[in-house]
Amino acid sequence: MPVGGRKQEPAAFEKEEAVVRSTISGREWELPGMWNRMFEPRVLSGYTSGGFAKISAQPGGESLEWCYGCGKCVPVCPVDMVGEYGPRKIHRKVQTGMDLFSSPDLWLCTTCANCLRVCPKQVNMIDIMPAAREVAVADGNVPNELQDVFEKSFRYGNALGENARRRHAWAKDAGVPVRVLANDPGPVDVLFYVEDYWSYHPRGKQAAQAFARVATVAGVDWAILGPEEKTLGDSQRLAGEKGLFEALMDDVTATLDRYEFARIVTPDPHGLNALRKEYPKRGHTYDVSHYTQLLAPLVDRLPLVNRIEKKVTFHDPCYLGRHNGEYEAPRRLLEAIPGLELVEMLRCRENGYCCGGGGGGMWLDGFTANHTSERLSERRVREAAETGADILAVCCPYEVSRFEDAAKSTGNEHLKVLDIIELLDEAMGGKDAVASLAASGEPVAR
Ligand code: SF4
Ligand code: SF4
Repeated sequence: MPVGGRKQEPAAFEKEEAVVRSTISGREWELPGMWNRMFEPRVLSGYTSGGFAKISAQPGGESLEWCYGCGKCVPVCPVDMVGEYGPRKIHRKVQTGMDLFSSPDLWLCTTCANCLRVCPKQVNMIDIMPAAREVAVADGNVPNELQDVFEKSFRYGNALGENARRRHAWAKDAGVPVRVLANDPGPVDVLFYVEDYWSYHPRGKQAAQAFARVATVAGVDWAILGPEEKTLGDSQRLAGEKGLFEALMDDVTATLDRYEFARIVTPDPHGLNALRKEYPKRGHTYDVSHYTQLLAPLVDRLPLVNRIEKKVTFHDPCYLGRHNGEYEAPRRLLEAIPGLELVEMLRCRENGYCCGGGGGGMWLDGFTANHTSERLSERRVREAAETGADILAVCCPYEVSRFEDAAKSTGNEHLKVLDIIELLDEAMGGKDAVASLAASGEPVAR
């Protein structure tokens, strides 16, 4: 039986000639054999239907069966561009015998949602893949690097396996005071949920420090949880570890319940997605936004005194754009920076290309390299370089390191990868200037 998507040739039904008989007049025509196939049913044979039944048995997995093969999803799937993927192909592979639960295809979908955007039948890979992965996780059938992240997230509360006490170590070098609620537990307007990569990754820490300066100058009343913060766990959920996600949610909400804040702001679109869409399903509702949404309405009042005479292109994060509908706030910030010229990539906004980091892909680069012709981040960096941009601007903590690596591996080192907050900080004069402005005690925006 063919597996892995190879098509089985249809059985040949042609005869030398065929007779067609009118049911009304009884008249008969003889047709050459080449037309016979029109009158013979083409049947799929030699396949079992058990694949769909197994997937449908998982809550969330039902819609894979709804595919009617229109093919709209294939050209928009980022994984299909570097392999044989797209929901239509997954549907066909399952139809022709592939066991999704043990196939590498189970781990390649980044849950980017571009297929769902165009699918007339609402085949929902964002539900299907986590549902199927949950089964594989329960069976212990998980790529090693992902298992490692699950264990670190469970043990340390972050995907990097770092010490919780060092979660806010970045704050020391921010150049402005950073309020930690554990030490100063009074009410606050904005609880800034830093998430893992801005807390621990070297490039993320620089972005967190830039945020501290910009938010302070902007007059935002904000604070962090510091060592009490744990990952919100959305990528772990999408990678199939729902139990871990729920355990993390219990811990996170118990911590949040102890403090008084008006809203949560995060730099992480995956965290945003969890708080906006998943936590409310279990009764935990917050006013939550992305940091670009916090700053965009304040940008006209920021002292953007430094011109940055560069061309910039912007990568829409899937979980900020397609999943949560925000395309304007990041662009508004970039367009406010004097001297900066924004040029769009061909695939942008609703049709933005995925960096490969969603749905657990952040931790599966080694695995996916064996099953695709090119990393998604490399393909995206090539697209960014084609615009002639000097800077690839991002606003998701997963992206800086992914794109910096990809810029090197594709020979595009000239392309500088910067978070939008770093560009704002630079336009405000950089660390020393912004820190002294913040220390002057005269915020420019209230
Ligand atoms: S767009 Fe939807 S219905 Fe059409 S082929 Fe893709 S999954 Fe099937
Ligand atoms: S969610 Fe994205 S990566 Fe997954 S199948 Fe759909 S388009 Fe492809």
